[in-house]
Amino acid sequence: MTIDAVHLTKQYRDVRAVDDVTLCVAPGEVHALLGLNGAGKTTTIRMLLGLLRPTRGEVSLFGERVGPGRNPVWARVGYLVETPSAYPELTVTENLQVMARLRGLRDENAVIDVIARLGLQPHAHHRAQTLSLGNKQRLALAKALLHRPELLILDEPANGLDPAGVAEIRNLLHDLAHDGVTILLSSHILTEVARLATRIGVLDHGRLVWEGATTDLVTQARPRLRVTVHDPGRATAALRAAGHAVSAEDGGLALTGDRAIHHPEEVATQLVNAGCPPTRLALEQDDLETCFLRLVSRS
Ligand code: ATP
Repeated sequence: MTIDAVHLTKQYRDVRAVDDVTLCVAPGEVHALLGLNGAGKTTTIRMLLGLLRPTRGEVSLFGERVGPGRNPVWARVGYLVETPSAYPELTVTENLQVMARLRGLRDENAVIDVIARLGLQPHAHHRAQTLSLGNKQRLALAKALLHRPELLILDEPANGLDPAGVAEIRNLLHDLAHDGVTILLSSHILTEVARLATRIGVLDHGRLVWEGATTDLVTQARPRLRVTVHDPGRATAALRAAGHAVSAEDGGLALTGDRAIHHPEEVATQLVNAGCPPTRLALEQDDLETCFLRLVSRS
């Protein structure tokens, strides 16, 4: 495994920021950590990188334990955590040259290449302090990518970018993933990562409340026929007798079978015949965001 974190827990005085999170990321995977503000994404990422000591649990990157004073995998990892920092008085190129020196990079083209890759050419000779928030974020990503890492760990990489910038970063990460780079990124916007991530972990109040393939999460956003009746118990029995899968949802009933979805009129007739006519019957489909919020509120 490229990332192997077991039972990660971080307890601050009276806040359990991360609660028993176990996370595995396989080589070449793009894994997203999703959660609302305060869910524990940044804390998890800081522990993965060895920037914060877990209260409990441990992390291995490329099979090597991460811990204070141990940075054997430094050269293989690129990361971006929280507010990007740069030397404000130095230009974009100079900032990257400093980073290249710190990393001991010999490749003279590395800086030029990464500037081109991040679309920073027009700003190459601008001081970092004059950059827009979006371009500061690009510079931070450039620093993370400079040494062509095998693993990228990015905390909210789309922060501060406009929609075009978000799409640009998505394409960039797509290309990197295509080239075999393993990526772990955090976000609070599901639709932003659904097109990129192969797997998604949903964090809520420090706990990993759902983990699985992105396609499985998308399937959860499938359409359902929502029915409201005066006597849900009787209606459920009648619909089940007619062969429908029925569940109670938000004060009404939900049917997810293909037959019900394609023939709501049959369901209406069955309910009328059972003596519980629907007071409301509607075909609904969650968007991914609603689906994510439902997952979080269920926990
Ligand atoms: P955001 O998207 O807002 O950055 P997040 O999902 O990254 O949120 P974290 O920053 O990891 O969440 O915070 C998780 C919880 O831990 C929050 O309740 C936060 O207030 C708390 N927390 C984080 N750092 C500390 C700290 N140093 N001391 C006390 N509590 C902390």
